[in-house]
Amino acid sequence: MKNIEKKIDTLTKSILKEEKVESSQTLLTEMKNIGIEKLPYAYSSLKSFIDSETMDVHYNKHYKGYVEKLNKALSKKDYGDLELEQIVKSISRFNKTVRDNAGGAFNHALFWKMLSPKTQKANGKILDKIKSDFGSYVEFKKQFEEKAKERFGSGWVWLVLTKRNTLKILTTPNQDNPLMNVVKGGGYPILGLDLWEHAYYLKYRNKRDEYISNFWKVVNWEFVNKLYEMKLKTKINESTVMKKLITEGKSERCSREKVEEIRMIFNINPAVKNTFRYGIESILKSVFPDNWYENGEYAEGSMSGIFDLENRGRSVINKLNTNYNAFCVLYHDLNSVLRYERRPELQLIGLPPAQQVSETKKFVRILDEYKDRIFSSKSGTFQNVMAILGSTNKAGDAREDLVVKKLKEKFGDKNVKKIGELGAKSDMIMGVDCIIIIDGEEYTAQIKPYKTVKVVDENLVSMLDTGQVKVYSTDWIIFEGGPDGILVFDNSDTKIVDGNYTFDKNNLIYTLG
Ligand code: FE
Repeated sequence: MKNIEKKIDTLTKSILKEEKVESSQTLLTEMKNIGIEKLPYAYSSLKSFIDSETMDVHYNKHYKGYVEKLNKALSKKDYGDLELEQIVKSISRFNKTVRDNAGGAFNHALFWKMLSPKTQKANGKILDKIKSDFGSYVEFKKQFEEKAKERFGSGWVWLVLTKRNTLKILTTPNQDNPLMNVVKGGGYPILGLDLWEHAYYLKYRNKRDEYISNFWKVVNWEFVNKLYEMKLKTKINESTVMKKLITEGKSERCSREKVEEIRMIFNINPAVKNTFRYGIESILKSVFPDNWYENGEYAEGSMSGIFDLENRGRSVINKLNTNYNAFCVLYHDLNSVLRYERRPELQLIGLPPAQQVSETKKFVRILDEYKDRIFSSKSGTFQNVMAILGSTNKAGDAREDLVVKKLKEKFGDKNVKKIGELGAKSDMIMGVDCIIIIDGEEYTAQIKPYKTVKVVDENLVSMLDTGQVKVYSTDWIIFEGGPDGILVFDNSDTKIVDGNYTFDKNNLIYTLG
């Protein structure tokens, strides 16, 4: 017992240490304590753009005011130790005062760095990217200025890098920032211009257009390029690590008995399943905002979820909500943390259904509390979960390939089509893995694993160890993996008994060797 505690303690310490190293590698480290960002030049040094009095008031009164009000608002409630960028990214959790002032603090801290006393020409990778995404630098400038002029009232105009790695110009009202999870179609800000009157009125009065066009004289392209390169690099590093985890990761799984206990709860009590599903979805969305896509946002007909985490389309992590092995690892690891912290452990097994649901709610709540520690590539739990999901996915692909091969042998090459492109609607919603054509008739099929066939009575058989058990609207369900070969069942009269697919024996329409 002592040993386990010691192990967890060392692990926690090393995770915390690594997290520290990680955050110090970001470019905006100074913001960590929501302190004041130092102005990297004198008030008078941006004269081609703005006068020193405006800079003085803008920096000392407006900007410092945002930071002070933000810290005051945060101190009223215990939000834990937060970084400004983290607050901005999860702004929907906070009230309007925090939203306005965190935005003000973050936007201005970025803005000061985006300005330079020396006129710089756009250069580096960001210039190449601008040319490829906007056609030319001149065209980009034109669009940026147009958008800026369109913004009515207080706000900002931004050049952002979207989730799909394209540049986009957008404006935000008040002190909103494109990183905020309340801003639709946002992205990572690369360049921004303050469009509040307080930023220009003393010098330009009502000539806001002139203020906008003078902006180019002071843009710190060196910094903008660094921001862009840093964001790209982080994205590439992350996806390489994730790819490694799902293809090379070693997974320590729960015992078969433990997984079976969880599978039973999930399949018998749908409220548990749904509570966990929606809970995990919202957690993943907030942990990986850059990789979250709504319905149809990633590609036409695509389902909402996490994409490109491993740089290969729809991520295996979306299966976390239905994979019992992964759930089991999360559940047991979370309990060892709770035990270590002397908090009451979660209890799902052996409870009446209503209590199972409230325990699942608690589970989701505690997961949410620890989410940043758990869903980090440095965490052992996460490595384990990704490895499990990766190998399940690989096994699923291999299974589909095998079944399709056998179906082709029986029905002919051109009469069998494999669907199952990750993220395609037909696969995700309808559960169609393949289509078989017999005498001009099309049949859809879902392919599942199984280990054994249990004879229930003289008419009924149940398929055991089939992974997630849910209702599919396909014509057939095909099972592969057990000693009885590939079994093709007609799906028109499928029952779920004790959480297992159960068929009338007459509905077995083909057996493939
Ligand atoms: Fe401002």
